[in-house]
Amino acid sequence: MARLVMKFGGTSVADLDRIRNVARHVKREVDAGHDVAVVVSAMAGVTNQLVEWSRQAAMLHDAREYDAVVATGEQVTAGLLAIALEGMGVNARSWQGWQLPILTDNAHASARILDVNGAELTKRFKEHGQVAVIAGFQGMNKETGRVTTLGRGGSDTSAVAIAAAIGAERCDIYTDVDGVYTTDPRVVPQAHRLAKIAYEEMLELASLGAKVMQVRSVELGMVHNVRIFVRSSFDRPEDIDPRGNPPGTLICDEDEIMEQQVVTGIAFSRDEAQISIREVQDKPGVAAAIFGPLAEANINVDMIVQNVSADGKTTDLTFTVPAADFQRALEVITKAKPAIGYQRLDSATDVAKISVIGIGMRSHAGVAAQAFRALGERAVNIRAITTSEIKFSLLIDAAFTELAVRTLHSLYGLDKASP
Ligand code: ADP
Ligand code: ASP
Ligand code: MG
Repeated sequence: MARLVMKFGGTSVADLDRIRNVARHVKREVDAGHDVAVVVSAMAGVTNQLVEWSRQAAMLHDAREYDAVVATGEQVTAGLLAIALEGMGVNARSWQGWQLPILTDNAHASARILDVNGAELTKRFKEHGQVAVIAGFQGMNKETGRVTTLGRGGSDTSAVAIAAAIGAERCDIYTDVDGVYTTDPRVVPQAHRLAKIAYEEMLELASLGAKVMQVRSVELGMVHNVRIFVRSSFDRPEDIDPRGNPPGTLICDEDEIMEQQVVTGIAFSRDEAQISIREVQDKPGVAAAIFGPLAEANINVDMIVQNVSADGKTTDLTFTVPAADFQRALEVITKAKPAIGYQRLDSATDVAKISVIGIGMRSHAGVAAQAFRALGERAVNIRAITTSEIKFSLLIDAAFTELAVRTLHSLYGLDKASP
């Protein structure tokens, strides 16, 4: 007998049939004698619709009201699943973020969880064998008591935080793929499922574009040592052997992984924009004049490349920002022109960042050099490069995204063996 958290994403609860299927998965674990807390997302497409309505109501709206609107999707699913469970004879009760409560900071629309009160849940496990069905993605502002949301994909983070709070043996993330793959299986059919992946690698994969887990959920899992198991909700509950090992990926400590490959996975993101500031005076203080105002405007700068301008006397500075911040970044730089002193601004939004990740890179040299060669042979131009201990990222033209990901996927031996 164990304590489990089971999280179901949007596609897994897309309609009443799927919600009933989820209820059967929950019943399966309850029948096996486990205490279960379930975390649910909004039904597929609902959050997008709510976000869109908030935008249409007013382009510039108060984040507190955005949260009041978008948090509603999860409330519906939690109630429906509790009803479905009760209908199957499983004692269940739904919970919203404010009811537990799940306390967060005041960063509306991207709030951080500060504390989860798991005591009421564990009391109900003990006294009534009651399943808790918790609305993911939402919490309550600790100072004001208002509803907050945790950023897109935030139900993963709700699930891991609840698993930590109730001391769950495992946090199962049920989704529309049966695990974490070497790259997005929808883009590269040769991708294969990883049996295990280290927290650090999953953190990089998630923050560099793989949306299978929200970044903060992995951070939380790493800090609190929560074993996270990513698996499919589409399997028929009746077909799952309670004593067997279901297909899926365990996100765990690197020490648990026996056979470490040099490269574990490849992530990509098209949500980048490139800005090049041409013919900047090459003198002390220039970088501060550029990146200071961007930081003040809360714009995250990622890749930075500096090279000599065509005139041989000045310098060109190229960097990337999230596509959503692109227009703002251009305005900030234009405003700071007198302080920076440049001739021209060039920019591109049709770019993509491809990232290669693996803990094995710590002890292997020349991994990135192989990628430069392979992409060069396919005439893919690299606009910018960044590296760190366990990953490197390349900025390329967006049109070459799939070609580049597939090329690197085979280069590092990640293609699954053909049947
Ligand atoms: P949910 O609604 O269950 O939270 P998401 O859509 O947020 O599901 O995440 C699952 C999706 O993540 C998959 O459908 C897949 O296309 C995508 N994905 C991207 N990279 C990967 C990867 N490396 N492994 C598995 N899935 C990935
Ligand atoms: N429903 C929210 C979203 O679509 C949270 C989640 O699904 O994790 O972003
Ligand atoms: Mg998700």
